[in-house]
Amino acid sequence: MKECPECGASLVEDGAEMITFEPDESVVIDAFMVQACSNHCGYAVRVQAEEE
Ligand SMILES: [Zn+2]
Repeated sequence: MKECPECGASLVEDGAEMITFEPDESVVIDAFMVQACSNHCGYAVRVQAEEE
């Protein structure tokens, strides 16, 4: 179990997505996993996708 480097609470995996509106009016949705602090201190790190 990984721990939050900020407060020592456990990290939990969570899904996140970032929506970007391009200048040409297209919309890019980037979905990814993050490991976020279960204590909600604000720490979160993006998890790199595993190579399949
Ligand atoms: Zn924390």
